Amino acid sequence: MPVTVGIDIGGTGTKLGLVTDEGDIISRVEFNTWDFPKFNEYVGELARSINSLLKSGNQGEPVGIGICAPMGNYFKGTIDKGYNLPWQGVLPLRDQLQGALGIPTIISNDANAAALGEKVFGVAKDLNDFVMITLGTGLGSGFISNGKLVLGFEGFAGELGHVNGKKPSGRLCNCGKKGCLETYVSATGIKRTIFSLLADSHEGSYFRTVSFDDLSTKEITEAAEEGDKIALEAFEYTGEIFGGKLAEVAILFNPEAIILAGGLSKAGHFIIDPTKRHMEDNLMDAYKGKIRFLSSQLGSEGAAILGAASLVRTLNAELI
Ligand SMILES: [Zn+2]
Repeated sequence: MPVTVGIDIGGTGTKLGLVTDEGDIISRVEFNTWDFPKFNEYVGELARSINSLLKSGNQGEPVGIGICAPMGNYFKGTIDKGYNLPWQGVLPLRDQLQGALGIPTIISNDANAAALGEKVFGVAKDLNDFVMITLGTGLGSGFISNGKLVLGFEGFAGELGHVNGKKPSGRLCNCGKKGCLETYVSATGIKRTIFSLLADSHEGSYFRTVSFDDLSTKEITEAAEEGDKIALEAFEYTGEIFGGKLAEVAILFNPEAIILAGGLSKAGHFIIDPTKRHMEDNLMDAYKGKIRFLSSQLGSEGAAILGAASLVRTLNAELI
């Protein structure tokens, strides 16, 4: 049975999984990324973990290794100044790991891997034109057009989180710019909206009893279910900005579906309804009523590993 190795390199943990052609993760291993402040030692630990994974899964040579990492560069096989990681500079991870193990290796950023994961293993198996959007701490996005991942000149295409969301003088973003979409449309973005609404209103609200850091998207959804006016207004405001931007995406890419994942997407109709309404309001007639909103079914635990594993399918130029 052909297997691939999927590796999700994150700011806290590095997760590895052995993945079948059908998208089942048959064994996993995980270690703390920050236990290896020297990059060479980190690559050594990755190689050891892959070997132990193959042994525990009772598998022979895998078809390939797919890695998703912040600022993972598909073309160069490097991690380019990845944020939240212990190492500095441009890191030649693909060549080092490939050199150590002799197994074909592919690297990409998290959002592109997530989009490909939906195409290979998830809800988008039968779709050729869609946008995958992860609404977590930030907003990650990957575009599949004509059945292929859109990478652009250097592999950084499709970063919707850092297009302007509202106005150039808007909220300050982690990237240093102002007004980026993810400062409004993400788990963090909606929290910023809630605290801004609280400051401008005398409305009683559940949110007056919690701190910014303690507030979760689950609580925001629960407050909306209880009819909390600030929660409902925050979803409406988020949906207005998100929907307006998706209308522009629709005109540029003509997608058949928008796939949502991440903490804020679990708010379900509270986020989808206003987003869809504002998107439709901003569309020309020819585009109206055609774009579906779908939710990722890969599960938060395995989605990143499956996304990483799906990158291996690009080795034979399929999907790229
Ligand atoms: Zn930004």
